[in-house]
Amino acid sequence: MSERIAIVGFPLDENSSYLRGCAEAPPLIRAALFSNASHLTSETGRDLGAGSSMFDAGDVSLGSGKVALLEIERAVSALLDRGLSPVSLGGDHAIAYPIVKAITRKYPGLAVLQFDAHPDLYDEYEGNRYSHACPFARILEEGAVSRLVQVGIRTMNAHQRAQAARFGVDVIEMRDWRDDLVLEFDAPLYVSFDIDALDPAFAPGVSHREPGGLSVRQALRVVQSLKGTVIGADIVEYNPRVDASNVTAVVCAKLVKELASKILDSGGAPP
Ligand code: MN
Ligand code: MN
Repeated sequence: MSERIAIVGFPLDENSSYLRGCAEAPPLIRAALFSNASHLTSETGRDLGAGSSMFDAGDVSLGSGKVALLEIERAVSALLDRGLSPVSLGGDHAIAYPIVKAITRKYPGLAVLQFDAHPDLYDEYEGNRYSHACPFARILEEGAVSRLVQVGIRTMNAHQRAQAARFGVDVIEMRDWRDDLVLEFDAPLYVSFDIDALDPAFAPGVSHREPGGLSVRQALRVVQSLKGTVIGADIVEYNPRVDASNVTAVVCAKLVKELASKILDSGGAPP
């Protein structure tokens, strides 16, 4: 069997509004993923170390500004052209815009599931329209995504609530959390996982710690119970500079493993 999942790192954090550090995340997530402290079989029984089901495409060296975003878009397109499902390691959440742009070119009508404490729907943030606070506004403006569902949200304000209404975003706020949540998607699905969706007690290594979030188990349950075809994912906003004993790197690696397995189990990107 040919390789199906491509792990790719995008070390970019210049669009972060508060702290730098996310650019240092990809090698640390990889180290945790391939560490002898665990193995590569997911909870659902998929062995990512078997055969060539997972391929490490390395980190993409990036310029800055719009050039960097174009480079990300091109790198993701190249992986899709090879029939690979990208699992991208950020970097801050700004990388989701060029990634989704590349994916919608191949999968028009794509649905997106965003795990996040924040809606990231700002029209602009501190003068930067490509800020990590804005990617989902940019994505929805292009009209290529059929549906955006947000999970873990607990920082709504008036502007972002208006943006969510304007774009028809399906926001599942944390204050309304129910453990029996099962999400179903008819269109091909992309999962964008901002690690700050998790409670900082589970994932302290994030730039914007927001209490009252998901447990690792609650997030895994949403992923494992997803109904639909998942064709790619990202893990963003891990900031090693504020982590404690690498615990957040291990959480990211666990999410990579379970998301990659979900992609493979659901059919993934057709070759
Ligand atoms: Mn985010
Ligand atoms: Mn966030």
